[in-house]
Amino acid sequence: MRCQRCGERPGRYRRPYAGDAVCGRCLVELVRDRVFREVRRWRWFRPGQTVVVAVSGGKDSAVALRLVLEYLDPLPGVEVIALTVDEGISGFRDRCLREAERLVERLDVRWEVVSFEEEYGFRLEEVVEETEHPACTVCGVLRRRLLNARARELGADVVVTGHNLDDEAQAVLMNFVKADLAQLSKLHPRVRPESEAVVPRVKPLRRVPEREVRWVADELGLPYHPDPCPFASSSVRSFFRRLLDEMEERLPSVKFGIVQALDRAGPVLAEEFLKGEVQRCERCGEPASDRLCKACQILEELRQSSSRLRDRASSSARTSSEER
Ligand code: SF4
Ligand code: ZN
Repeated sequence: MRCQRCGERPGRYRRPYAGDAVCGRCLVELVRDRVFREVRRWRWFRPGQTVVVAVSGGKDSAVALRLVLEYLDPLPGVEVIALTVDEGISGFRDRCLREAERLVERLDVRWEVVSFEEEYGFRLEEVVEETEHPACTVCGVLRRRLLNARARELGADVVVTGHNLDDEAQAVLMNFVKADLAQLSKLHPRVRPESEAVVPRVKPLRRVPEREVRWVADELGLPYHPDPCPFASSSVRSFFRRLLDEMEERLPSVKFGIVQALDRAGPVLAEEFLKGEVQRCERCGEPASDRLCKACQILEELRQSSSRLRDRASSSARTSSEER
């Protein structure tokens, strides 16, 4: 079948929600247009900004970095820095790091790496055995704190992440099912962080289906590590991923519909439910909705459950707080 957009090349990529099949070149153009439209719609970037892009070594952040660089190219005075968090997952993150390095070299971008080991004194894989929390909960909370703190140190005005349409639809549904409407409203692109200590995050791929991100990464020849994290299949999110993929077979636009609902309802939900007082964590100084931030709560639990980690975690938390 010929591409239904240009009519010239083979239509290799099926887009069920659009009812067509397009060639590689047209797909890249369509995705680029959609990403640029999204960036303009929410006015995420301005001249003179420092833009930190969270680069994991996977396909999503590779495509996000590549397209954001292209968008920002004509804007004067913008500095782009790629930032990678090494959580300490043997056989996975080390390979991702190699691909991330190839990517930033190829795209000629400044690259910073921070690790759990340096910041918290342990690797994620050591902690998984020591806690009842799912790996992704520990990982997500500690990674978010590290990313935000380092981005702030780098003077970032904005942090770009590679979350795609599938990620976003899963997050909306998960928070909806938990009836966590405050958290749900925070996903909206126009709802600002509650504290100035949080660098605003933007997701240029939030309307691009995951499979299209992979196709674009391949079409553009971007280096990335293709395998999923070994802990991913046990996460709650993976249940919602399967659920949405099944729904999509019957309703091809379902993921777009869910994100569209967020775009309409987010600000109203924020007005109604986002009233929590944001304070600073007593221990590390990061934003917290309680006496301790979530990261310090997890570090505290780890200290109590493991004498081996106790000393390392406590000295590391002290250091981070003293540095600030
Ligand atoms: Fe961390 Fe879970 Fe993502 Fe693996 S899948 S990197 S454990 S959040
Ligand atoms: Zn804290």
